[in-house]
Amino acid sequence: MLRDEACGNITSDDAGREVTLAGWVRRIRNLGGINFIDLWDRTGTVQIKFDPEVSAEVVKTAEKLHIEYVIQVKGRVQKRPKEAINPKVKTGEIEVSAEELRILAECKPLPFMIEDEDATEEMRLKYRYLDLRRPTMQRNIILRHRAIKAIRDYLDEVGFVEVETPILMKSTPEGARDYLVPSRIHKGKFYALPQSPQMYKQLLMIAGYERYFQIARCFRDEDLRADRQPEFTQLDIEMSFVNERDIMTLSEGLMGYVFEDTLDIKLNIPFERITYNEAIARYGTDKPDMRYGLELIDVTDIIANGSADFIRKMKDEGAGFIAITHHRDKNPSRKELDEYERTAKDCGAGGLMQFYISPEGVKGALTRFYTDEQLKQLVEKTGSNDGDLIQIAGGEMPKILEVMGKYRSKLAQKMCLVDKSCEFKFVWITDFPLFELDEEGNITSTHHPFTSPVEEHIEMLETEPLSVVARSYDLVCNGYELGTGSIRISDSDLQRGILKLVGLSDEQIEDRFGFFLKALDYGCPPHGGIALGLDRIIMLMAGEESIRDVIAFPKTLRAVSLMSDEPSEVDEEQLKELGLIVMRDEDEE
Ligand code: ASP
Repeated sequence: MLRDEACGNITSDDAGREVTLAGWVRRIRNLGGINFIDLWDRTGTVQIKFDPEVSAEVVKTAEKLHIEYVIQVKGRVQKRPKEAINPKVKTGEIEVSAEELRILAECKPLPFMIEDEDATEEMRLKYRYLDLRRPTMQRNIILRHRAIKAIRDYLDEVGFVEVETPILMKSTPEGARDYLVPSRIHKGKFYALPQSPQMYKQLLMIAGYERYFQIARCFRDEDLRADRQPEFTQLDIEMSFVNERDIMTLSEGLMGYVFEDTLDIKLNIPFERITYNEAIARYGTDKPDMRYGLELIDVTDIIANGSADFIRKMKDEGAGFIAITHHRDKNPSRKELDEYERTAKDCGAGGLMQFYISPEGVKGALTRFYTDEQLKQLVEKTGSNDGDLIQIAGGEMPKILEVMGKYRSKLAQKMCLVDKSCEFKFVWITDFPLFELDEEGNITSTHHPFTSPVEEHIEMLETEPLSVVARSYDLVCNGYELGTGSIRISDSDLQRGILKLVGLSDEQIEDRFGFFLKALDYGCPPHGGIALGLDRIIMLMAGEESIRDVIAFPKTLRAVSLMSDEPSEVDEEQLKELGLIVMRDEDEE
């Protein structure tokens, strides 16, 4: 080894010891003719002193040093004089007096300073290897490593087997678009990169592995929305002979272990469980942030009976009215009320009806459209007290719930209700509808077509498919969906029926899923599983706001790498081998 000690591990106990260190020059200072540098390696930094009284030759070499040069230093650990002690740094009580110095590599002037937290993301992604040297990125990537290790340790302990599934698989488009890989040997045929190992993990249950997991890379060719990546990592889990509760309990134990092992944080287990319908009614979303209250309250039965023309009209159109209530210390000013209304409109509301509860009674521009009795009911139903402001928006159900859900989170931000000090509020959302309508009004699976309906709804599949409840569950934390899973269909006839219901022809079913349906007929145990979004979990653990900050080499929102410049064109020769001709968009030429 070119070194026998790590920079960050030296303490005052080492005083007097001879050490050989290697690392990067992070900072350079000259104090009264003596040069000091901070030498950095992954473990931390240590101060190196180049003293002409120790070695004039070393000082001469040290004068050639620039930021981020890679050097090897041999020297003696010394306690710093009292006035030079830096209690903020782990190695702040000591320094190493250099006796030998070798420059191992030079470094060009940097595009941004390593410790500059304000470098633009474009520069950071272009010079990712420099960005990854930054303390926060080092912390994030190492946290990721430790979390993955904790996952493996825990799952191994409780009897899981890690199995790798193919990266080149069959294209079975549903949900997102597949990334396709052309076959050279079978011209005109394609592999697809997995959107998730869904069918493989189920096949592993049929194969008798009982408890499978994989840190699985998944690929989805989506139009990238905020904070998505074309490739991302899932912790993929599948278990045999289980029901929903078993998978949820296993996941809770796992998350509890990982958070405690890597962050020393004890989670509140079991996590709260609410149904999809309840989540929508109380929070207007299936990914509620449970760190604050501000629950939605349906006040249609009171508010729709107001005497104003616009309310009557809305009532005739079947509108619902949803309230949110929060405390104000004093009578809100006109300006404040207008601001609230603007925020609500930004969230999609047509307007905001506002009632303030003062000791003299309910105040507000719209009180004249309601009787005292109705206002009393409103106060009671919303559980409001003196000093509370009741805000109500009306509109088509369930859309207006979604609007008020958005308003709820905006309001929480505005009121600084979100405790950023790393509180993790997990919640399970259960009993999703099995199907939903896509933009064209066709039936699609809410999760994926392998999700089992609840037993007692199977007979409603043909008649009332949109009312069928799925045996599925999502794990949500602080407003982020962290994972999704379900008990699977293990009967080939039912599976075929569901694939038909989502619009596949017999031929398509046979072609895409024939092998899988066949496998279901060879002794398929009841089974279910979950996939947890690892990037997002690490992002939350690291207190970051973008998954790009916890992925070593991410792509941009436009799915390109700014560092290595993919996707890129390929040689004609390569295309020819694959039997491909590229059609270019006219406007590209
Ligand atoms: N494979 C599913 C997904 O990626 C998750 C699951 O049901 O296990 O969304």
